[in-house]
Amino acid sequence: MRYKTIDFSKYSSFKMGPTLEVALLESSIQSIDSYYLIGSCNNTLVGPQTPNLITLSKEYDFIKIENERLVIGGATPSGKIASFCKKHNIANFEFLSHLPGKLGGLVYMNAGLKEYEIFNLLIDVSTLSGRKQKSEIEYGYRYTTITEPILQASFELEYGFDVKKLEMFKDMRSNQPSTPSAGSCFKNPKGDYAGRLIEAVGLKGFMRGAICFSKEHANFLVNNGGGVFEDAIWLIQEAQKRVFDKFDIWLECEIVVLDERYMGSNSPLLKKEV
Ligand SMILES: Cc1cc2nc3c(=O)[nH]c(=O)nc-3n(C[C@H](O)[C@H](O)[C@H](O)COP(=O)(O)OP(=O)(O)OC[C@H]3O[C@@H](n4cnc5c(N)ncnc54)[C@H](O)[C@@H]3O)c2cc1C
Repeated sequence: MRYKTIDFSKYSSFKMGPTLEVALLESSIQSIDSYYLIGSCNNTLVGPQTPNLITLSKEYDFIKIENERLVIGGATPSGKIASFCKKHNIANFEFLSHLPGKLGGLVYMNAGLKEYEIFNLLIDVSTLSGRKQKSEIEYGYRYTTITEPILQASFELEYGFDVKKLEMFKDMRSNQPSTPSAGSCFKNPKGDYAGRLIEAVGLKGFMRGAICFSKEHANFLVNNGGGVFEDAIWLIQEAQKRVFDKFDIWLECEIVVLDERYMGSNSPLLKKEV
């Protein structure tokens, strides 16, 4: 197995975490059982008790048109996909110019902006155990039933890159903070907004160390510089407790927490007893 050194305080969008040796998932590897797969950590909090990590190697960083389809490798950054589509006048991927991540992470989370979601044009995904059609996968808002590494995916090809949409997506971003974050901290509960609930329990702008729920958008947990994992977790749990006490709603993390104390079915982040 080959490894690469990653300093998560620079690599992750939350700008926090240790420096670790991360294994590389190359085409010769058949199973990743003892590893947790990461992409570009735009949706991830990396804690001190990190599991063994693995990431797709450069082999999976590609984008091409093949048999009237757009075929994209799992390690391809969203910006590269958006640039390719602009250059080749391909429609429907404009939203990726304002959505950070690599293709594998974007598909795994069904990432999107409002009704523009990565699953809209998906045809199939290739994983370690073979190809899966879209119809074999359940998916919804920030949710899919994919449990394996996504090595590549193919998408319907339509022509007509829309420059006007770029402005629209930029505007959608205007209420989001530019301070380091990992995107939305919680999924919006049905019929409500996590940001509204966090504000309603007095946590919008509330600081713990260098970390707070942003004053600009309460569902963005932001690192104002040198923030530590324990403070981020404290704020996440405090928001879950307060919102449950007041509204009987359990806020489900959208952020992925990579620390063995908070992972798996026994994670305190999943418990509703308060
Ligand atoms: C400022 C900001 C704004 C954001 N706004 C949005 C938004 O509007 N909408 C939205 O949907 N998201 C948003 N996000 C979150 C982020 O863009 C997405 O979740 C993106 O999909 C993360 O991709 P990644 O490669 O960084 O994944 P990572 O954070 O590295 O991983 C996230 C999850 O994906 C899994 N994963 C990663 N790669 C693969 C793979 N190849 N195969 C299978 N599973 C994999 C990981 O195991 C992990 O569970 C935002 C993030 C930031 C920082």
